[in-house]
Amino acid sequence: MDCIFCKIARHEAQAQLLFENERIIAFRDIFAQAPTHFLVIPKTHHASLDAVGDEHDALLGELLGTARRLARELGVAASGYRTVINCHQDGGQSVDHLHLHVLAGRRLSWPPG
Ligand code: AMP
Repeated sequence: MDCIFCKIARHEAQAQLLFENERIIAFRDIFAQAPTHFLVIPKTHHASLDAVGDEHDALLGELLGTARRLARELGVAASGYRTVINCHQDGGQSVDHLHLHVLAGRRLSWPPG
């Protein structure tokens, strides 16, 4: 499949990897929007959060748990961070492979634009 995140998951495209297990891989965002900005994705291809079913709840939990652990490891948990999943057009999704953003290292504004 011609999906850049699938290629990263298969080690066919380069990325700055932060974590990997059988189900999940995490890497730094190539266009970082904050001093710390990384993505946590399932290795299996799901086009969006809207594309998974109830049977994937454990996988979704693992994405969040991985984000929490990495935020601590990278030293940004105490100052704070934001997790974001953009879904479809109005959500601002640009890569059609489910991914969780983690942004940290600066004060983030709210509401988002
Ligand atoms: P979204 O707009 O929520 O779909 O987020 C997609 C994110 O993937 C953006 O923040 C991009 O900067 C990031 N991105 C796209 N291609 C790559 C890549 N090859 N390596 C790392 N991050 C990427």
